[in-house]
Amino acid sequence: MQPPTLPQVAVIPCSDYSPERVSLAVHEGLTALGGIGRFTVRGEKILLKPNLLAGDPPERAVTVHPEVFGAVAREFQAAGAKVTYGDSPARGRTERIAQVAGISAVADALDISLADFRHGEIRSLEGPLSHQTVRLANGVLAADGMIGISKMKTHGLTGITGAVKNQYGIIPGLQKSELHLRYPDVYRFSELLVAVLRLAPPRLYIMDGITAMEGNGPRGGTARHMGVLLFSTDAVALDTVFCRLIHLNPEHVPFLEAAHKAGIGNMRLDRIRILGADPDELACKDFLVPRRPPPRFLTSTYVPRFLREWVTPRPVIDSSRCRNCGACVAQCPVTPRALDWPDEDGPKPLPVYHYERCIRCYCCQEICPEKAIYIHVPPMGRILYRK
Ligand code: SF4
Ligand code: SF4
Repeated sequence: MQPPTLPQVAVIPCSDYSPERVSLAVHEGLTALGGIGRFTVRGEKILLKPNLLAGDPPERAVTVHPEVFGAVAREFQAAGAKVTYGDSPARGRTERIAQVAGISAVADALDISLADFRHGEIRSLEGPLSHQTVRLANGVLAADGMIGISKMKTHGLTGITGAVKNQYGIIPGLQKSELHLRYPDVYRFSELLVAVLRLAPPRLYIMDGITAMEGNGPRGGTARHMGVLLFSTDAVALDTVFCRLIHLNPEHVPFLEAAHKAGIGNMRLDRIRILGADPDELACKDFLVPRRPPPRFLTSTYVPRFLREWVTPRPVIDSSRCRNCGACVAQCPVTPRALDWPDEDGPKPLPVYHYERCIRCYCCQEICPEKAIYIHVPPMGRILYRK
């Protein structure tokens, strides 16, 4: 019997976003995995799915850098593919976000059109969540193949956001927030992420880790130079290598654990074939990332609420940064809202948390454009986890 083929991850150093370097690195990564011909044939419709979380300029490291997007697009166009792109952001219109992120300028120059990510068709998930339906963006349905392009970042709920989490954006519009309510803790949400990945898996995953985001991600963190691009046909293997680069135990990333249990990937580095550079030579030991998720028992409804409140990280507004835009209030999926405007009028009221209603999805922290929401870990929580 043939031994099972190990998933491959190409680790390609790239020191900065100069167009020549990025183009060379992207070409090298694709070549390491077998060449562009492995991922498309002439005439196919290929959808690029970059992380377009929110409208921030490239230097904020919130979205995939336009040079990476452009280099990938050119490779597929040169192979004869008809390329489109799209994503369903947390809030706002994709057109506007792509414009601020510098993606639409590259897309226009290459004559790449925006796919329809506002509407979709209902599909049932597979596996243990087969009772759950989601809308799948028309742009995904219209393509012959998809290429996921993620950003190397931290995330308030899931610890990191990478190749697996990036695919959550194939669900258009508000259903993403509604699903947070139905899958409120990180373990159940991770099962959902894995089911969405299974629904429409890309052919290839690429991660922009030239400038990553550490700390208060996925939008309010700090840019950190990592100088690397990752390539793989296996999302779990790619995210496992990302973990290695930031010295994070992949077993402490619930969606990787969920994928491993579902049999669609493994988190063991010795079961992954690394191509290109040694991740240990590019690794960053002091990358600021939540090191542990909440213990699973704390997510049980049998645990008294007061105990959970003592240890569970909570979003907090930094009044010195808040500009009262209301994006966080609009984003809260709970009814009545767990974050709302105060009843009394004031000269400049801040939104107020009602933690007794808060499900800790951290959507408010994710959307804040001013980095004004951070996640506070109570002292008891620091003892238990997130070390
Ligand atoms: S999103 Fe941020 S800046 Fe806007 S109101 Fe909320 S905390 Fe303030
Ligand atoms: S207040 Fe923030 S963390 Fe709490 S439920 Fe609302 S969006 Fe989620």
